[in-house]
Amino acid sequence: MDCIFCKILEGEIPSKKVYEDDFVLGFYDIEPQAPVHIVLIPKVHIESPEDINSENSLYAARIFEAAAKIAKQLELKKGYRLCANCKQEGGQTVNHLHVHMLAGRNLSWPPG
Ligand code: 5GP
Ligand code: ZN
Repeated sequence: MDCIFCKILEGEIPSKKVYEDDFVLGFYDIEPQAPVHIVLIPKVHIESPEDINSENSLYAARIFEAAAKIAKQLELKKGYRLCANCKQEGGQTVNHLHVHMLAGRNLSWPPG
């Protein structure tokens, strides 16, 4: 399968890892949009947020659990943003479910 994030999981594409457990891998985004920009992915190929279902939702839950752990580990005391882009108009460019974790600056709302 031609999936960049599956290749990162397999180690075929290198990444700067920040977190790993049995369900989730967290690594630094190659094009950071904030001083801290981490991408959290499930260790199975789930196409997009729309493909979360009762059989795989544990992966989604574990992503949020991982984010809470990372926030403590990196001492992101002022806060951060978690967001998951879904399909074309949602701005999804990699079709492997991922949650962005952004921190280190004031993040405006609404996003562009
Ligand atoms: P999306 O636009 O799909 O929500 O987010 C995909 C993210 O993956 C983008 O922020 C992009 O910079 C990041 N990305 C794409 N390819 C790579 C890569 O090979 N390594 C890393 N670390 N990040 C990547
Ligand atoms: Zn994948």
